[in-house]
Amino acid sequence: MNGTRVGASARERLYVSTTDTYDADNDLDYIAIEYALNGERVKLTQAEKIHTARLLDERGCGIKTIAARVGADSSTVTGWRANGWKAGPRLKSPTRGPRELKPCGTRAAYLRHRAKGENCPECRAANAAADRRYRGTGTTKATQ
Ligand SMILES: [Zn+2]
Repeated sequence: MNGTRVGASARERLYVSTTDTYDADNDLDYIAIEYALNGERVKLTQAEKIHTARLLDERGCGIKTIAARVGADSSTVTGWRANGWKAGPRLKSPTRGPRELKPCGTRAAYLRHRAKGENCPECRAANAAADRRYRGTGTTKATQ
């Protein structure tokens, strides 16, 4: 027995800098970054997270690994990379355009007319029908 487990070769330790431990201009603590690079739990500032992510990316790590090491979402890391490793504007989820208004002859249009103080017989009839349905079935939605 030599105490060496199969597949347990020593993992290469990654280093950031051999001379500096702190970059005051960019608010980077290289010791913290080195911990993060090597998968050790450490609290990082956003600048450190981005720096770490860039270093891991340069070393060929996948986005998911990078995200896990820096404690960020993989979409966030993707955003940093797309932005040249800078904190960019948050990627917004696609926003929907203005809602399409229901046409006349629907309960929704009746409610819209009523809010504007308008009188539309077609919509009033639709609302009355919806009301009847509601009393009978418990829903204003027409059944197919
Ligand atoms: Zn109408």
